[in-house]
Amino acid sequence: MARARPLQCPFCDNYLAGPVDINMGTMDITGGICICGAIYVLDRTAHNLGEIFMDALTFVCRGNIDKALSMNPEAYESADYDYDIHSNMIGRTGSAGKLVFVRLISDKNTEG
Ligand SMILES: [Zn+2]
Repeated sequence: MARARPLQCPFCDNYLAGPVDINMGTMDITGGICICGAIYVLDRTAHNLGEIFMDALTFVCRGNIDKALSMNPEAYESADYDYDIHSNMIGRTGSAGKLVFVRLISDKNTEG
């Protein structure tokens, strides 16, 4: 069982700031970007994870919904955590929120 711990990128272990409101022109999301290129999106209620996951895919595609919809599952990696926005902690927070992480896997862009 994972204990509550500070928000950290699941792909590069970088510590992250809490999600902020971001306007992408066609959509508004609450999330952020890691230095490794991973993005994260907050689902405040954890009741529409599918929708949030789609938002996360669109975000990682820089707002390109067509690309997000046609993306091969092998083209990205993802993770989701229980998240408490007040303490900026993931794991067993007792909070209803979820945080979805997505990072594109690119042969051209492989780092560390
Ligand atoms: Zn990262």
